[in-house]
Amino acid sequence: MVQEEQDFNKMWSDLGMDVAAHNSLLDAVGQMYETVFLTQKNRPKSTTYLDNFANNLHSGRIREMVDARKDGKTKKIIGSFCLYVPEEIVIAAGGIEVGLCAGANWNTDEAERYIPRNTCPLIKGFMGFKLGRVCPYIESADLVVGENTCDGKKKAYEQFSKMKPMYVMDVPHVRNNNTKEIWRQEIYRFAEKMEDETGQKITLESLSRAIKLVNDKRRALQRLSMTRAADPAPISGLDSLLTIQAAFMDDSARLTQAINALAAECEERAATGVGVKPHGAKRVLYTGTPMAVPNWKLFNIIEKCGGVVVGEECCTGSRYYKDLVPEDGKTVEEMLDAIADRYLNIHCAIFTPNQDRRDDVISMAHRLHVNGVIDCSLQFCTLYDMESFSMEEAVQKAGIPYMHISTDYSTEDEGQLKTRVEAFLEMI
Ligand code: SF4
Ligand code: SF4
Repeated sequence: MVQEEQDFNKMWSDLGMDVAAHNSLLDAVGQMYETVFLTQKNRPKSTTYLDNFANNLHSGRIREMVDARKDGKTKKIIGSFCLYVPEEIVIAAGGIEVGLCAGANWNTDEAERYIPRNTCPLIKGFMGFKLGRVCPYIESADLVVGENTCDGKKKAYEQFSKMKPMYVMDVPHVRNNNTKEIWRQEIYRFAEKMEDETGQKITLESLSRAIKLVNDKRRALQRLSMTRAADPAPISGLDSLLTIQAAFMDDSARLTQAINALAAECEERAATGVGVKPHGAKRVLYTGTPMAVPNWKLFNIIEKCGGVVVGEECCTGSRYYKDLVPEDGKTVEEMLDAIADRYLNIHCAIFTPNQDRRDDVISMAHRLHVNGVIDCSLQFCTLYDMESFSMEEAVQKAGIPYMHISTDYSTEDEGQLKTRVEAFLEMI
């Protein structure tokens, strides 16, 4: 064990990380994990996979990726911050795509030397993690792919690119025939960039294999999500959130198998009335900004207050798995077009108008029999804050109670949030 830790210290140091600072981060996240996850009652047994995943997040998984690159099993590690970056293309070109999380405050003072104070915590997080050299995913990535989504990210990438090789995709903000064509070209440009980066051509075979691999993961997540319509809910919102967070970092084939095992156990629990909370616990649908590792704050508050999160309409939720890429493309071009269509249909708040997101929330609320919707935006996220007004109107019109929360990664407002969530759960 000590030997193992020393080996990982060497690996982190070889990646150029600040090992001492990273060890304090690991300690803090490890303690948080114990308090948040390991105190939950009646978890499905298959969640031991998630505990192992969390345990290996910065160590075993990084070793696996770095070794795969050394052995030539994978060509490049590609980091990304957004759901619009198609992992099928990265995989087809021989790379591994990892989601860069930035779900915690780190080195904020230093980050604020490069970006304004009133920037959302996610952006401050990735700047702080890079400046502090504490994220093995950022440090091991050969290239980071950004996107022109919100203004904050767009401008922060200009600073980030001074510290790390970057490529930025241009994501349209409206959907019409013109932007559809622009986005299609952007997908082709990205495919070429990946081929240049990895030196491996995307072929009919490699792309169709990658589409199938990612679809299988999304299908497993859909299957798990369906079990959460049961009352009592067979799995907590926290464990479901962690499963999706794992989808951005873990080995796809192995994780798919683990999610299917978890889904099978949850199907069994649902059929026999076994749940994580008693029958009748207040059921919440989460919508809003993504919740990156280790941002478990709001879900923990909701579930420690006696509620249960049964669905997530967000990028660390249904938006990741609800749509598949058709598997019947006959040429690389056909498959790339299908990828372009699938990704343009992600209902992020950067789009205007964005009625589809509201429709998704209402249909999920009905399907999952929720008692209320909690819409959360990370502080200073103008897009999701703005959309909260039309979301409130739509949800209330559908006769579903609604609450909006704006928060950050700190623990300072936890008491106040707990009081608000308790009152909401009581009211619904
Ligand atoms: S919320 Fe929008 S910008 Fe953020 S990760 Fe999701 S798709 Fe990308
Ligand atoms: S939370 Fe909002 S402001 Fe922050 S990166 Fe996402 S879309 Fe941009």
